[in-house]
Amino acid sequence: MADSPSYLNAHCHLELSLLKGAIRPGLPFVEWLEKIVALKRAAKPDDLLVAARAAMQRLHETGTRVLWDIDSLGIVPHMVQQAETTPLPLQSLTIFRELIRFDPVDAAAIVEVSAKYLPDPCDVVNTEVEYGLSPHAPYTTSRALLQSVAGIAIGRRFPVCIHAAETAEENEMLEKGTGPLRDFLNPFLPKDWKAPGKRTMEYLDDCRCLNERTLLVHCNDVTDDEIALIAKRGASVVVCPGTHVYFGRGEFPLARLMSAGVNVLLGTDSLASNEDLDMAREIRLARELAPSVPIGSIEKLAVIGQAAPGNSDGN
Ligand SMILES: [Zn+2]
Repeated sequence: MADSPSYLNAHCHLELSLLKGAIRPGLPFVEWLEKIVALKRAAKPDDLLVAARAAMQRLHETGTRVLWDIDSLGIVPHMVQQAETTPLPLQSLTIFRELIRFDPVDAAAIVEVSAKYLPDPCDVVNTEVEYGLSPHAPYTTSRALLQSVAGIAIGRRFPVCIHAAETAEENEMLEKGTGPLRDFLNPFLPKDWKAPGKRTMEYLDDCRCLNERTLLVHCNDVTDDEIALIAKRGASVVVCPGTHVYFGRGEFPLARLMSAGVNVLLGTDSLASNEDLDMAREIRLARELAPSVPIGSIEKLAVIGQAAPGNSDGN
């Protein structure tokens, strides 16, 4: 029997696994955000933990051996703490601690503390565990926070994950300060908030966030010039085919990213915006969304051994 494939899933939020099927597909992004915030707030930690464990088992069953996951609630770090009694079914787990903070006040100090208390990479039973930081998105963090994360990550060599250019609404909010995302976030923004006046990629570059330590997630709304900038800076991009289908998004920029030489990876995103955590399904969906890209090239995007951001030597 042929060996079953071993996959890298480069973007997930295991802590949201309880919300599988809770929000119907195809809603506008802002409505989805509104619902996810409320559902996450109402969920019980024990239930989130049980669902995250089941989701990790599903990853294992479908061949994922390396996972890069975003954590905001401490659910997956708790699983790491319990690994002596309940081992994690993964070879390697990178946990990105999520930062969401609109207010620039104390941003540098908050980032400093977050980075200081990131555990060192370690082996927990049979799993290598590493940590990084994830400023959630350029519209849920301040310029000061993004600049601080970028500065500290370079000095301390940890990876940084940012949801970026996910929607046209995001680019509109950052460039012009208008649109449905701005309207939704208005109650949370500082009273003196001003749009950066730039689209996501140029703004992140301004904040020194585009470099080889950076993992950009989605990049659905990007121009060719922005893709060239990502490639020039050496940042990686994770595309999430299942989530792309779930939201019914437009162009899937995989072919443009790959032909520009960007280091592209595949991720499932969470079960709150995807039906499954099966990387073979993600490969199939990527092929459907980007039929000009050969299937063999797409399969390589999910193969273990892809250069991880933060390891500029490619290990
Ligand atoms: Zn995500």
